[in-house]
Amino acid sequence: MDELIYFDYAATTPVRPEAAAAMMDALGQFGNPSSRYGYGREAARRVKEGRETVARALGCSPGEVYFTSCGTEGDNWALRRGAELGRRKGKHIVTTAVEHAAVLETCRDLERRGYEVTYLKPDRAGRITAGQVTAALRPDTALVSMMLVNNETGVLLPVAEAVRAVKAADKAVLFHTDAVQGFLKVPFPVCSTGADLITVSGHKIGAPKGIGALYVKKGVRLAPLLTGGGQEEGIRSGTEATGQIAAFAAAVAAALDDPKRLEKAAAVKEYALARLKAALPKLEVISAGDVGHICAVTLPGYKSEVVVRVLGDRNICISSGSACHKGRPSHVFAAMGLPKPWLDGALRLSFSPESTRAQADVLVSALKEAANSLFTTLS
Ligand code: PLP
Repeated sequence: MDELIYFDYAATTPVRPEAAAAMMDALGQFGNPSSRYGYGREAARRVKEGRETVARALGCSPGEVYFTSCGTEGDNWALRRGAELGRRKGKHIVTTAVEHAAVLETCRDLERRGYEVTYLKPDRAGRITAGQVTAALRPDTALVSMMLVNNETGVLLPVAEAVRAVKAADKAVLFHTDAVQGFLKVPFPVCSTGADLITVSGHKIGAPKGIGALYVKKGVRLAPLLTGGGQEEGIRSGTEATGQIAAFAAAVAAALDDPKRLEKAAAVKEYALARLKAALPKLEVISAGDVGHICAVTLPGYKSEVVVRVLGDRNICISSGSACHKGRPSHVFAAMGLPKPWLDGALRLSFSPESTRAQADVLVSALKEAANSLFTTLS
């Protein structure tokens, strides 16, 4: 088998050695943080320390961080209970057409439950303005949900500006942002956006799958999504996942210790894009991405699933969009109004600080070969 060449870091990331070590250590100390004896209190102390680390990275106080099982849970919790919290005001929600399925499918479910949802359309570059958000507000708007970084284009949405504009128009509207692709990938702490509710996920930053967090701004009285034993100050029941929490905190700390990480990923992305454009004259850039780790390109006339499979056979991992699409054309690129041949040939490339130029070279020559051989097959 060829060496693994991985350019799908937006789908998931390898577990960092620091995170794996912290997890093993925490799993060895298996106490239940709710137990009253010393062994349990030791587990509780580790959860507390993990929360402090995650809060430092988010830019908030530890009391505003609630551990969840994943980004999808955070999005569900924020939207379902956020919408409920504003119900006295009304049942209107504003979101964007480019959100992750965790937000869009939850909005669709809320529509079936009597809510009305406005889906803001992006422009051809995948951008949505703060003005579009405020223009969509109505007296009965309870909640706005706008992602921070799009997982398919790498576009940074103007969340801080939208929060300011929305709050200036109507203080009572709750603002949620899905920052799963923005957490530790943008050069500011995500809480500085001013959003009331913020979703993050561990497996995008070197923690294992199965851990995330929801930031709930102090004073926002969000009801629980899960009821039970009353862990996490009573609003997120379920015995704390001590191993995952320790790993999440270790991955966060490692990222904070590497202030150059964003530039490193961006440098390899820029290099790969330049090489791809030179090697494949047919290739078009859909979005170079505002963040260092994501960009989207297309090979019009090709089928991205086939290209992804051909590269996959050589152990080169890229994606045809979000890993969650499973072969369907991307709703993000469709919302941007891209022509069909662009949609069909769309590829997402995503990077990490550990990505190298040598790996990018392998990707470029494999993509060139795949394009040549598929072209011959197709014609
Ligand atoms: N939101 C965005 C923008 C994502 O990219 C993802 C995962 O791809 C999610 C939410 C869901 O996160 P998780 O996989 O932790 O459930």
